[in-house]
Amino acid sequence: MNRFVVVRYGEIALKKGNRKLFEKVLVNNIKRQLGRSTVERIRGRIIVSVPSERLRSSIEIMSRTFGIQNFSVGTWTSYDLEDIYLTSVDLAKDEMKRGRKTFKVETRRLDKRFPLKSVELNPLVGERILEELPETSVDIHNPEFKIEIEIRDEGVLISSGKTTASGGLPVGVSGRALLLLSGGIDSPVAGWLAQKRGLDLDAIHFSSPPYTGERSFDKVLSLAKTLSIYNGGREFRLYSMHFTDAQIAVHKHVEERYSLVCQRRLMMKIASKIAEAQRIIAIVTGENLGQVASQTLENLRVIEEQTELIVLRPLLSYDKIETIELAKQIGTFETSILPYEDCCTVFVPSNPVTKARLFDINRVEAGLDLECLAKDIIEKSKMYRIKNGDILEVKSIEIPEEAS
Ligand code: ATP
Ligand code: MG
Repeated sequence: MNRFVVVRYGEIALKKGNRKLFEKVLVNNIKRQLGRSTVERIRGRIIVSVPSERLRSSIEIMSRTFGIQNFSVGTWTSYDLEDIYLTSVDLAKDEMKRGRKTFKVETRRLDKRFPLKSVELNPLVGERILEELPETSVDIHNPEFKIEIEIRDEGVLISSGKTTASGGLPVGVSGRALLLLSGGIDSPVAGWLAQKRGLDLDAIHFSSPPYTGERSFDKVLSLAKTLSIYNGGREFRLYSMHFTDAQIAVHKHVEERYSLVCQRRLMMKIASKIAEAQRIIAIVTGENLGQVASQTLENLRVIEEQTELIVLRPLLSYDKIETIELAKQIGTFETSILPYEDCCTVFVPSNPVTKARLFDINRVEAGLDLECLAKDIIEKSKMYRIKNGDILEVKSIEIPEEAS
């Protein structure tokens, strides 16, 4: 029997005008990830046909694709009752293989020409399943699986095993964003939350070789690969910035207390330049409020002062415990807790300023040419093109003059 994945999306919250774009982007994101499958849109549903040997991997992809509310596995049949029975029994058999026994049949009759009403068809199909699979039983209120029958103009669509997916909006509908990605727990989660709101994501990471080792960068690369899997099959770019000289310059010229904020300002400036060259208008960070001394409103403000772009901080209201839960769920936690150093821990001040004022920052930065530092860093850096967890290419970064 030819199986399909029946995809449902959160249609309720969608305004009329947005809906077309939402559907178009979602269909394209599914196509990008599933390669040679056929993806077809019917009213309120997306039907994806996949070769049976790829059903399992396709289901995995569906469960992490943003914009999908839930999905089930199903198949088309004719209006012939015997066909409907046989297909329903077949799907019930699949459910039994997964250890599920109690069921319920639910019919939606969208095509009113069909001679039987929903309430008439449900018991007929139910009886047939009970007859052919005597270990099953009906449970109307709390079934382990449902056989869902939709009588449509196009034919009869029967599906079972509804699985909840990730929800959110399809990646790309909200535009593009650049994530400041460290090797920590927070920023990958912040990136994932941005993707969930429909942002097509790239990331930028600052490292300071030889102070930060190769393994520290591998860790970030691995986080970027994981995030790329949630990017709706779209290319995910990791900008890897060589930060050593800038850190040394900051260390040399800036009062120690201010060096962390100053480094962050430089990171923000560089991220902003890269984003603008790519016509990206949002920057995402894993910053929170009050978690560490450096993350105060005052400090966030002087860091943000280095960009004109909108800065999104999806984790602002999260407790650490909630962030850790999400990190485990999306598969970044184990990598994030590997003990390799981050560039910010290399020259960390013992007593960083908690309430930086722009006036003071401008004073302590007087000996630095941030523009010049930023330009040098960009010239020495590399960009990784990643797609669905694989690196496609590593190349140098070019920024046209007018954007730099
Ligand atoms: P994380 O767990 O993401 O490292 P954190 O709670 O440890 O966050 P900080 O280390 O103060 O907080 O970093 C705040 C944010 O600054 C990070 O979430 C990230 O967005 C950005 N950031 C910090 N270090 C780097 C880096 N080396 N490269 C790129 N971005 C960074
Ligand atoms: Mg950190």
